[in-house]
Formats: sequence, C-alpha cells, structure tokens
Amino acid sequence: MSDDTKTLNHWIDGKAVAGTSGRTATVWNPALGTAKAEVPLASASELDAAVSVAKAAQVGWRATGLSRRAEVMFRLRDLIDANKKELASLVSAEHGKVPSDALGEIARGLENVEFACGIPNLLKGGYSEQAASGVDVYNIRQPLGVVAGITPFNFPAMVPMWMFANALACGNTFVLKPSEKDPSASLFLAELLAQAGLPAGCFNVVHGDKEAVDAILEHPDIAAVSFVGSTPIARYIYETGTKAGKRVQALGGAKNHMLVLPDADLDMAADAAVSAAYGSAGERCMAISVVLAMDTVADELVGKITDRIPGIKVGPGTDPANEMGPLITGEHRDKVAGYVAGAADEGATVVVDGTTDVPADGFFLNPSLLDHVKPGMASYDDEIFGPVLAVTRIGSYEEGLALINDNEFGNGTAIFTRDGGAARAFQFDVEVGMVGINVPIPVPVSYYSFGGWKSSLFGDQHMYGPEGVNFYTRSKVVTSRWPDPATSTIDLGFPENR
Ligand code: NAD
Repeated sequence: MSDDTKTLNHWIDGKAVAGTSGRTATVWNPALGTAKAEVPLASASELDAAVSVAKAAQVGWRATGLSRRAEVMFRLRDLIDANKKELASLVSAEHGKVPSDALGEIARGLENVEFACGIPNLLKGGYSEQAASGVDVYNIRQPLGVVAGITPFNFPAMVPMWMFANALACGNTFVLKPSEKDPSASLFLAELLAQAGLPAGCFNVVHGDKEAVDAILEHPDIAAVSFVGSTPIARYIYETGTKAGKRVQALGGAKNHMLVLPDADLDMAADAAVSAAYGSAGERCMAISVVLAMDTVADELVGKITDRIPGIKVGPGTDPANEMGPLITGEHRDKVAGYVAGAADEGATVVVDGTTDVPADGFFLNPSLLDHVKPGMASYDDEIFGPVLAVTRIGSYEEGLALINDNEFGNGTAIFTRDGGAARAFQFDVEVGMVGINVPIPVPVSYYSFGGWKSSLFGDQHMYGPEGVNFYTRSKVVTSRWPDPATSTIDLGFPENR
C-alpha cells in the first residue's frame, strides 16, 4: 500500500472510488507541518451511493451464517496483527502520535475485533418451553440494517474498530465517515476487511465534513449512528439523528480529574499523572487534565511532576526515542498555547511553560504544568485537549469529589490512594462513567463497554462490548405452538397463559 497518494479516495462496494464533489481538505503531516494528501469531501449524492450499496449488501450479509461472520472477524484479527506496524506508521504520519502509542491504539482496537469473534455466543437468545400449554416463547436479536459511524481524529484506527467490529458481526452493513484530518487508517482497514473475506459493499468509507454528516443524519436508509467526537457536535448528532428516527449513541468530550489522597504513593501518582496527561500530547478523551491535590501534599506532588517533565522526549515519531509527538494542526496548537499564555492573568501559576523551545517544524508544544487552577478559569472549565496539566488544590476529599461531580463532563476519573475504604466510597459516589483506582486511564476492556456520563455521552447505550451488541441489534420475541388442527376453534377472548 503506497503512502505517496496525493489525493485519497472513498471506499465503496469493495473498491477505491474517486470523489466527485470537487471539494477537498488537506491532510497534514503534523510532525513536519507539511501537506501530506488531499481528502475528498463527499456530497450528499456520493453518500447516498454508498448507502445504496450497503443496503443491497446487507440482504446477503444478514443471511450469512454466524460461523462464517465469525470467521471473517478471526481473519481480520490476524491481518490487523500482521500489518500493525504499517497501520501504526500511517496513523503516526497523519495524527502525529509516536508509533509506540499508535501500536497501543491498534492493540486496544483489536480487542474489539477479538470480542466480535465470539458473535455466535453473543447473539444467543433465551427460550422458554411450555410458557403455556403447548406454547414456546423465545427471543432473537436481529441486525438493524445499514448503520453509520462518524469518528474523531484522535484515534483513527481504534474508534472505527470500536464500532464496525460488532456492527458487522451482528449482520449490519457499515458506512464510516472518518475524521478528515487523518483518514488513511480507515482505508487501510477497509482493504484488510476485504482481504478477510467480507463481501463487497458491507463496509464503506465516505470521507467528508458537515455536508456528509448531515447527509448521514437525514438518510432514510441509515438505521443507527455511532458518533465519537467533541460535545457540541455529539449533542447535535444525537438531537438531529434521533429526530430523524434513528438510534444514536454520541460520545462527547471530557475533563478528567485525578484525585490524589495524602496517603497515596506520591512518586507513583506523579508518574501516572505525567503519563496520562502528556501521552499522545494530551489528545485523548481519557487523558488526565486536572490533578486534585490535597493541600497537605500538593507542594510535594507538584514538585515531583515538575521534576519529571524535562525527561519527556518531544519530537517526530520517525525517531523511536521520542515519546510525545505534535498536535494535530497548527490552529489547534495555537489554541492550546493560548490557554497557557492566559493562565497567569486568570490567577493560575505557570509552573512549566511548554510553549517555548519547541521544535522548529511541525505543530509541536512541550508539556505545560499549571498550578492553583480553579473553576471559573478557562484552563479549568474548557476541554483543552493538549499537553497542559492543571493542578487544583483542595482541602478535603469531599471538596475534590464535589468538584468532579459538579463538572459538566463525566467521562473518566481516577483516585490514587492506599486506603481501600476511601477508594470504595469514591467508586460509589462519583458521577463519572469510567473510574480508575490507582489506574489513570481506565479504558474498559472490550468485554465491558465504554462510555461517560453527563455531557460525555448522549444516548442510552455505551460503545462496544455487550452494550455495543445491544446497540447494533433489535430484539424480536416469537411465540409459537403446533396444535392439532382438529382441536382448532374460534375464541374471541384475550389469550391467557394459565
Ligand atoms: P470533532 O467533534 O471536531 O469531530 C468529530 C467528527 O465530527 C469528525 O468526523 C468531524 O468530521 C465531524 N464534525 C466536525 N464538525 C462537525 C459539524 N459542525 N457538523 C457535523 N459533523 C462535524 O472532534 P475531533 O476534534 O475530531 O476529536 C476530538 C474530540 O473528540 C474531543 O472533544 C475528545 O474528547 C472527543 N473524543 C471523545 C471520545 C469519547 O469516547 N468520549 C473519544 C475520542 C475523542
């Protein structure tokens, strides 16, 4: 597969298809700050062509046996594993994350393909023999039809796998609208799905922006939409999609707090905070962006975090020694730098200013650390989505818990302590969807489901795992009897079971 493509294609009906709208967007290499490719932005009619193909393909795919669907997933699993280095370098070239981090993303995405390999077991229904005399009742789960996924830039391989593995295994066909900022990983995955034996038309990639997204939300033949991205767009997707009668799960942004109690091992807490705040340049929805430090240990903890920052190697992923890559675009880099520049005026202390001494080329920032950050400051209230860690000092556990529970977002959180009772109380009381106990990035394994609370998720069903299977299927209950026709009579009464 060539990396030199200057104009990318859509993937429809098992093959590359050139865009016809005449509109394109630039895909950057953020480590160099240079244009890497042009991606076509689909019109509504191009989206419609992909949906037609997917609708036609779904007739045969939903009738395909479960073992055969599982076989495709098993093959896909091996193909992704065999090609993971190439996929990781593609992700690194367009997103900027270093290859070791990209490999981690692929490994976590692959878990979802492995989960989908168990689809024959996952789709087992229940059966009640003799619910009434000679009457049996059972339930089955059936696919929805054509479903769509709209994905963000920050996990260009993993988030599509969160969605399409279960959706396809359940018997749906899929239209993916990946982020226009790093679209090539989706095309690579489409080729691997074809090699795995997925029939043409079952998985389609349509690139685009708001025009393509709106066409998805309005299309009468799309039954469900999975979305991952920022909160304002997630809310829009949920409201517009459900109004059009679709099933929608829309995952939004985050502001994840890490609560450090005085009894915690402060070196371990500092290691965790640094890893979770600056990994992937802070462009993770599960990144730690606020450390809540108890007053009694805050100075020591801030000192330990500060000491660790100069050791972080910032630079392009082409050098395997580097640990933190650039931000996604120059515009986003400048926006993130603005929070650091404005922090002192808001009353925060800039302990480490990561906006200086950055590599000359590309969209780089170094890690920044802000202290004495409080609610009401932009650096506390906003999702910055960059390598900026804020420390908020608190007087008590209750104060820290209240800050987390009052926050608009509820994606992830973590507590660091050696006190099991405190951790158990935190797990019980905290209003957040994914909780880590001495685990800074508690992304659930693929046989649980991923999702936040409050403005981090719109919809009832979390993503992947058992809730993913529920989301991509609907239940049908069958009541059956095989009486002797000779006993048949007319009875206008409502059927009773006793
Ligand atoms: P984004 O919301 O800008 O884009 C997400 C998708 O929506 C993209 O495919 C994009 O093309 C599309 N889109 C953008 N603007 C649109 C508009 N006006 N109308 C319709 N569609 C539009 O998000 P992003 O910058 O790509 O990703 C970063 C965000 O995603 C962060 O807020 C991060 O927290 C969030 N995120 C959340 C999770 C989660 O699981 N909760 C996971 C990853 C990322």
